[in-house]
Amino acid sequence: MKFDHCPKCGEKLVPKQIGDEGNVPYCKNCERPFFPFSYPCVICLCISEDDEVLLIKQSYGIIRYVCVAGYIKAGEGAEECAKREIAEETGLEMLGARFLYSKYYEKHDNLMLAFACRVRKAETRLSGEVSEAAWFTRDEAENALFPGAYGIDMLHEVTRLEKEGLLGI
Ligand SMILES: [Zn+2]
Repeated sequence: MKFDHCPKCGEKLVPKQIGDEGNVPYCKNCERPFFPFSYPCVICLCISEDDEVLLIKQSYGIIRYVCVAGYIKAGEGAEECAKREIAEETGLEMLGARFLYSKYYEKHDNLMLAFACRVRKAETRLSGEVSEAAWFTRDEAENALFPGAYGIDMLHEVTRLEKEGLLGI
């Protein structure tokens, strides 16, 4: 997201040299820069305490299983967002989160923050956005996800971290 006009007062932004950042769009009225950014969101690989993976199907017509994901709200931390999205979409409680990596997703101009999330296994309570939720072994989960999905990468990263004793959740 790049601003041409000030999102606060509507003034046309002008380039201003700011430290090492180079020219940054600047509002003379508000006396502040508006740095370009990508919308941050979380993608959560939900794993139960007995190592099952929870995947969901979204209500709007997607046929394969996906990971819980959502946009970070203004003023919210990424782990907080993960906990909220998991609770909202599945009704489950997140016990801990481990940041895996971030990736830029050009299609929606998103900064994706990937987390492995330990969740307490219980009866799911799905939101209107979710049509189905199911538990899988790691191998089953890999097959249930879209080929090339972030979730598959995340499964591999979790396995790698575990082998090195670094997962920590
Ligand atoms: Zn302004």
